[in-house]
Amino acid sequence: MPAQPTESPLFCDRCTVELHPGRGDFFVVKIEAIADPTPPEFTEEDLRRDHRREIERLLAQVEELSEREAMNQVFRRLTIFLCDRCYQEWIENPAG
Ligand SMILES: [Zn+2]
Repeated sequence: MPAQPTESPLFCDRCTVELHPGRGDFFVVKIEAIADPTPPEFTEEDLRRDHRREIERLLAQVEELSEREAMNQVFRRLTIFLCDRCYQEWIENPAG
């Protein structure tokens, strides 16, 4: 059975114009944002210092966050819908 077109209306995430699946009048933009994946660098001075107090403070902070919130701080995946016009503007300056 072929997939049914989605029943709920779809709107451009920028200008909120209604989009029409199947008519090719919009773009699906998938964004993956990952916090700096490089392993942290430690200098010799860092290693000499006693970090226990600092680590305990950070752990206490993390415990206050829900798991989802903590996850959102390092990784987020978003899907946005843009109409043709908004996409053409956005793709020229996505970080703007
Ligand atoms: Zn738009």
